[in-house]
Amino acid sequence: MSSAAALNYAGCEDNHYQPHFLDSCFLCRRPLGHNSDIFMYRGNTPFCSQECRQEQIETDEANEKRWKISSSKRSNHSTTKENNTKKVVRTGTVAVA
Ligand SMILES: [Zn+2]
Repeated sequence: MSSAAALNYAGCEDNHYQPHFLDSCFLCRRPLGHNSDIFMYRGNTPFCSQECRQEQIETDEANEKRWKISSSKRSNHSTTKENNTKKVVRTGTVAVA
């Protein structure tokens, strides 16, 4: 029970400090000391180690691939629909003329 309360408190603390995100690792939230190395990614995302940064890069790449697949599927679908509609209208016009 006490550990749950501590977790809640830690969550509040985390939110409070989020604007100063350079103070902690983006992945594992480990505080980044002034003397420790900071591994930057995409310009403004700090990590405590190469391992953490690599994990985030891989997560991002996986997300991008998934996003690309779903978005291309969606656009293909709507393009097909549009073409079908145009074809129907054109055919109808030709039949009338
Ligand atoms: Zn880390």
